[in-house]
Amino acid sequence: MEKKFEKIWENCLSVVKDNVSAQSFKTWFEPIKVVKLQNNILTIQVPSQFFYEWLEEHYITLLKKTIKKELGTEGRLEYSIVMENSFNNSKPYTIKIPTTNKKALVNPAVSMPMDIGNNGIRNPFIIPGLKKVNVESQLNPNYSFDNFVEGDCNRLARSAGFAVANKPGGTAFNPLLIYGGVGFGKTHLAQAIGIQIKNHFPNKTVLYVSAERFMHQYVDSVKDNKQNDFIYFYQMIDVLIIDDVQYFAGKEKTQDIFFHIFNHLHQTGKQIVLTSDKPPVEMQGMEPRLLSRFKWGLSADLQAPDLETRIAILEKKVYADGIEMPKEVIEYLAYSITTNVRELEGALISLLAQSSLNKKAITLELAKSMIDKFVKNTAREVSIDFIQKVVCDYFDLPIELMKSKTRKREVVQARQIAMYFSKSMTKSSLANIGLHCGGKDHATVLHACRTVNNLMDTDKRFRAYVDELEKKINVI
Ligand code: ADP
Ligand code: MG
Repeated sequence: MEKKFEKIWENCLSVVKDNVSAQSFKTWFEPIKVVKLQNNILTIQVPSQFFYEWLEEHYITLLKKTIKKELGTEGRLEYSIVMENSFNNSKPYTIKIPTTNKKALVNPAVSMPMDIGNNGIRNPFIIPGLKKVNVESQLNPNYSFDNFVEGDCNRLARSAGFAVANKPGGTAFNPLLIYGGVGFGKTHLAQAIGIQIKNHFPNKTVLYVSAERFMHQYVDSVKDNKQNDFIYFYQMIDVLIIDDVQYFAGKEKTQDIFFHIFNHLHQTGKQIVLTSDKPPVEMQGMEPRLLSRFKWGLSADLQAPDLETRIAILEKKVYADGIEMPKEVIEYLAYSITTNVRELEGALISLLAQSSLNKKAITLELAKSMIDKFVKNTAREVSIDFIQKVVCDYFDLPIELMKSKTRKREVVQARQIAMYFSKSMTKSSLANIGLHCGGKDHATVLHACRTVNNLMDTDKRFRAYVDELEKKINVI
């Protein structure tokens, strides 16, 4: 007796199976759990509100027929919605909804006449009429974690990405929103997550798509009256990576459709990874309900690459390409180009091209002339980092000491000199200089500048040091 409702549901399923495509069956019927049978009401458990609505919209006639066949004309169906994968504040909930003949779907924009289900789904990436959904991930294998250099500028975002990649949908970082300026590595990191997931979980369907492409696909689907295919396709993805979501700004319809896809994926424990050129609070033209969802998981920023990371990135690329390049050239590039990684790579490529086209060895001179000619627009002013390096090299001090709070005499003097040059040769504020030199305040920097000026006036040997240093710094 106890098992009877399970048997009944099994019978229903076997009828359903004969009437829908294998993919639809897998997506919409396999996840259903049968809960109980009471007073001729069979209760089934579904993983989300959306799931229930989808069944009601698309399969209700079929379900009704099979239920009545098993339970007689009094037979009814009831849903229990259990969201098994919820994060943050959204606690799992169970509600009962008796089956109705209701027509409306969650969103009028997607309430279209049903034309898939039995026919397989159109994959907007390939061609219509596709039977089995075999989603190409659209990932670039070069953008792996192995190729992503870790540094202070990206540590949080990288480790969050790594956590997500090892447990997609199973961390609190859902969605994971990676934001940062142009060329800071957002696309690379987002793709690295996808690649890692593909490697560790080959059965998971991973999809990388730019927000722009997503929008065009959506617009096409509207034109062809195929929104259902579109939404259905995206709801089957296990790991959805959308690049540059700021592109959705002001595109209401696309935001709407994405909102529903987002909800469905999130509720069913699928992983969502987003990138953006700004944090959620600064995104204009985005629906509040969508923005609030962006904040559900973790927003992690990528900073402009710091000097160490720039050097490491160049070294890695040079090594990977099997190129011999003097260390001083690498450092010169890293010191000269501070804006972003893409420009850094651009400079490296120009340099390599210069060298091979003109059959010249890669030397510091070549690098300098190349930087002058080809990278006019990049910030090339002397940086505090560079000044510190030159001063530390000169006095043979580890750079960490200069950046530390130590008050040892020889360190204090070198630090004061670095502050003095930072003030006279960069546009940095006193406060910023202080921050870079042992976390001092602006008054300390001002004091350092006066001290150095006084010493130069009174101490000839000191003056010689400073002059020599100035020449070294000006080499850049
Ligand atoms: P964004 O999407 O933020 O504009 P990209 O991800 O396209 O930036 O990065 C620009 C280039 O810099 C890419 O070629 C990428 O491989 C490289 N890059 C960025 N960050 C790193 C890093 N941490 N390690 C190695 N390469 C990086
Ligand atoms: Mg990008």
